[in-house]
Amino acid sequence: MKKLVLFDIDGTLLSCGRQVGHIFLEALKEIYGSFRKPENYSFAGKTDSLLVIEMVRGAGLNLGEIHSRIPDMRNLYLQKLEQRLDPAEMTVLPGVVELLERLSRRDDIELGLLTGNWRDGARIKLSRFQLDRFFSVGAFGDDGLDRRELVPVALSRARRTGHAFEPPQVLIVGDTHLDIDCAHASGVRCLAVATGFTDAESLRQAGADWVFPDLQQASLQFSLFR
Ligand SMILES: [Mg+2]
Repeated sequence: MKKLVLFDIDGTLLSCGRQVGHIFLEALKEIYGSFRKPENYSFAGKTDSLLVIEMVRGAGLNLGEIHSRIPDMRNLYLQKLEQRLDPAEMTVLPGVVELLERLSRRDDIELGLLTGNWRDGARIKLSRFQLDRFFSVGAFGDDGLDRRELVPVALSRARRTGHAFEPPQVLIVGDTHLDIDCAHASGVRCLAVATGFTDAESLRQAGADWVFPDLQQASLQFSLFR
């Protein structure tokens, strides 16, 4: 029976370094004037629209105003990202290319994305290394605020392309407790890799079904996923 593997991007497939945070905050300042990043704030695993809301909320704007400017924020951020995202500051994480090439040759597996990035942000990041060619379906930061909303979106898009997947046939691959949480909220299993900012022990404690140091070392687990 055919399976669907949904990959997170940042910290799972690649790392962009600090440049994306700078670009994001710069766009945020231009659109909203001011913002207040909550103390010890983590970008990891959150949708882009949720990042905007959480960072601007403390600066005195009401929720309606914040929401109404999200399309402008998205356009400005994506324009800056397209112009400035420098692959020299990015890293494709260990084993990623080999794994995607191998899985894409299997006819019992469909590859997709499940990411908090706005759709074009995902494309821009992946296309710096031609990784976007591997993914036929996906759910993105444009599809919901809470990552939990994205799993049903990805499944319904897959269904529209002729593949109906039940949760046991789906695997989410990510690097944060939010990847694990959104998978389990939809009855889907999660393979976690410690290539982001969350260590293996924390991923284990968050209930990941499998935890590996990186995707190279997770390789065997994918061979067993049939
Ligand atoms: Mg991530």
